[in-house]
Amino acid sequence: MHILSLFLKNFRNYDEEKIEFHPHVNILMGMNAQGKSNLLEAIHYLSIFSSFRNAKDREMIKWGQPYFFLEGKILRNNGEYLLSAGYHEENKKILKVNGSQRKKIKDVLGVFNSVLFSPEDLNIIKNGPSARRRYLDQEMIQLFPSYYYSLIQYQRILGQRNNLLKEIRGSKNKLELLPVWSQQLVNQGSMIIKKRFEVLQKLTPLARLTHRKITNGAEELDLDYHSLELKGEENLKTASLDKIKNIFFSQLDNNLVLENQRGITLFGPHRDDLKIMINGIDARKFASQGQQRTAALSLKIAELELVKSEIGEYPVLLLDDVMSELDQNRKNHLMQYIGNKVQTFITTTDFDFKQKEGNIIQISRGKIENK
Ligand code: ATP
Ligand code: MG
Repeated sequence: MHILSLFLKNFRNYDEEKIEFHPHVNILMGMNAQGKSNLLEAIHYLSIFSSFRNAKDREMIKWGQPYFFLEGKILRNNGEYLLSAGYHEENKKILKVNGSQRKKIKDVLGVFNSVLFSPEDLNIIKNGPSARRRYLDQEMIQLFPSYYYSLIQYQRILGQRNNLLKEIRGSKNKLELLPVWSQQLVNQGSMIIKKRFEVLQKLTPLARLTHRKITNGAEELDLDYHSLELKGEENLKTASLDKIKNIFFSQLDNNLVLENQRGITLFGPHRDDLKIMINGIDARKFASQGQQRTAALSLKIAELELVKSEIGEYPVLLLDDVMSELDQNRKNHLMQYIGNKVQTFITTTDFDFKQKEGNIIQISRGKIENK
């Protein structure tokens, strides 16, 4: 899939721009703080309808303006799509596909898939479990819009259940309401857990293969999803939805006293972790910087392959400041891999950046210089 062009209005430091893109390689070239990452953020916004930098929608509105608007022309195997997304201070989000309005984010997810790789992706390896859950979720919502719906519902139920636990703490009032919320939590949460296991079953061999190639067979990468704190519980991996529900529910039930004391939900997909191992050792604790970077690269390439296997075409690849971070060997591997099968955007501050084919888009103070 390709993004053919993008129109931006009042987005970050962009005033108004219409940019046509090359089907293979687009080099976003400019000095620091000119708008390179902002442009990638705009493209990626059309995939997940939020910021990859965790910014709120209103923070992406150009300072002093009331709204931003983005419109991308997307080319897929089965035709062209016009995807529009806007955010107004008062009217909030507006989303459209081919001019017709869609009420919910889940109704526009999956029209345009993109994978972003930036130096912050090292956090997937070295930070706490939430970075890894976020990595999984960001990819999964693009492929499975119903997964996004489960996540939103789960967060809502979790918030309500936590509020209730806080009220119950001490007073024991409203204890009889807890099972209702637990059941709802288990229903949505189990779907999330099951889907994560399913996706990891596909993602793991792809990541292993890539990692072996990049390291010339020197390293074995492994991913292991730990759910409901049942460490090493093999049968959860292939368990039915009902089995997961039963285990989840009984875990909440067994820990009722503990949860009441703490006033917080202690089990569920919001506490799960994805363990990443290199040669059998926890990468988070023991891998070197370079090893972590390579593992992150393997995960990202695996993501591209996963999308390809799920929807039959490659997503768009967005590389933010990645080239300066990788050594020559890894850079070559990445460029060889990309070939001309994946439309790629590469940001660089290096005005001598050489690329055999593709477009150079020069960015200065939120404007495209070389149109
Ligand atoms: P670097 O090479 O340092 O990564 P960059 O070209 O990627 O630079 P961006 O992250 O795109 O830089 O940011 C460009 C500028 O946009 C920053 O100076 C920032 O202050 C500005 N900016 C961010 N948000 C807004 C906003 N809502 N309105 C106006 N300007 C903004
Ligand atoms: Mg940047």
